[in-house]
Amino acid sequence: MSATIFKDFQFEAAHRLPHVPVGHKCGRLHGHSFMVRLELTGEIDQQTGWIVDVSDISKAFKPLWQQLDHHYLNDIEGLENHY
Ligand SMILES: [Zn+2]
Repeated sequence: MSATIFKDFQFEAAHRLPHVPVGHKCGRLHGHSFMVRLELTGEIDQQTGWIVDVSDISKAFKPLWQQLDHHYLNDIEGLENHY
């Protein structure tokens, strides 16, 4: 039997959108509270009754969270918003 679980994470970060029309408020440096939901679908382990230990989800996400939380997103590869 399979099931789907999710865990939500929050982080705060700053960014700016350099290609909005001149004078648009999003062109200036500003911050947001972001929510990330990690959703996992898998087979339920017969012994534990889990798909995965929820604490392992937190451990897996931690390195990415550390890159994002209280950082300037435009400095992060893939989030530069320079196209
Ligand atoms: Zn924004």
